[in-house]
Amino acid sequence: MSLKAIQYRLQFDFQLAVMTLLSAIALIGITPFTVLRALNGQWLAFTVDFSIQAGILGTYVHAWRTGNTQGASLVLAYFIGTMATVAVFVLGRAGQLWFYPAIVANFFLVERRHALLIALAGLAVIFLGGELATLPPTEAASYLITVIVCALLTYAFAYRTAMQRSQLEALAAKDPLTGLFNRRTLLDALQGVQRDFQRDREPRGLLVLDLDHFKRINDTYGHLTGDHVLVSLAQQLERCVRDVDRLFRFGGEEFVVLAIPEGEAGLATMAENLRRAIEENLDDGHGEPVTASIGGAMLLPGESIQDWFARADTALYQAKNTGRNRVVIDPNA
Ligand code: GH3
Ligand code: MG
Ligand code: MG
Repeated sequence: MSLKAIQYRLQFDFQLAVMTLLSAIALIGITPFTVLRALNGQWLAFTVDFSIQAGILGTYVHAWRTGNTQGASLVLAYFIGTMATVAVFVLGRAGQLWFYPAIVANFFLVERRHALLIALAGLAVIFLGGELATLPPTEAASYLITVIVCALLTYAFAYRTAMQRSQLEALAAKDPLTGLFNRRTLLDALQGVQRDFQRDREPRGLLVLDLDHFKRINDTYGHLTGDHVLVSLAQQLERCVRDVDRLFRFGGEEFVVLAIPEGEAGLATMAENLRRAIEENLDDGHGEPVTASIGGAMLLPGESIQDWFARADTALYQAKNTGRNRVVIDPNA
């Protein structure tokens, strides 16, 4: 694997990057202790330290080789939790201190509910195992509380990060003007549809819709009025399109419907209903109706997404060339 490929994977696989950091810590931070334990003949402590190193590095190598970072991270998180707990019993004070970074590391590796569960389960075992009974009561209480505070604060941070990520994903998936899914999401959806079609062979249809003479509205009344028409159109389409079908703003004044129709006739009926609803309900804000032309195509077995889309697009051009405000479904199905 080239250096570039390694950089690419680390950049786009956050968990793998965290595992890289943990492996470096395991090698650089723990090796001196492992060596010391061996030199002093503390074989139990040596075994604990060495097992932690072997576990972290083993799951890391596994993640690189199989690409299953998620699975490796989950195993590693439970392993770290277990070993950090064992370390408290075997290493005493040093183990108690290592418990904190172990908790934090797990929140970077796995979903926050797993990480919290691991932290609290470990703490319960330490408490019930009588390990804290050796400490003065105030110190034992402080340890318990600081571990819980550490876990809860990291939980809160992980929660905020996850929320921000889902907000960012939603923003990236939607068109800001109409709130519909955007072109980027459409490309993913088309690939999904193609996969589903290969599996179940249920009819899949594609409609490409383009407003007629939209430029005139912009030129006559200004861009803001044009925007307003696009928002009204999006609302109209959302009302007409069934829940099983999906709607996208493909670009400027072009919209796409990905449908599961009952055959080609079903797709034609759906398109005709949309066309009529737009003709009857959409206007330019000054009483003049706004119309749309629609091209459609059914997905053929073995067909590429590009070819499917091109057939729908060609049908749309036919609808434009034969007078606009009409539906043309590609007959190639
Ligand atoms: P046709 O019937 O052949 O489709 O004619 P048309 O005027 O609709 O087609 P054309 O592609 O020439 O014009 C599309 C216009 O859509 C051009 C562009 O200014 C306008 N447009 C694209 N995106 C937006 C937008 O977000 N808001 C507004 N107001 N206008 C937009
Ligand atoms: Mg256009
Ligand atoms: Mg147009």
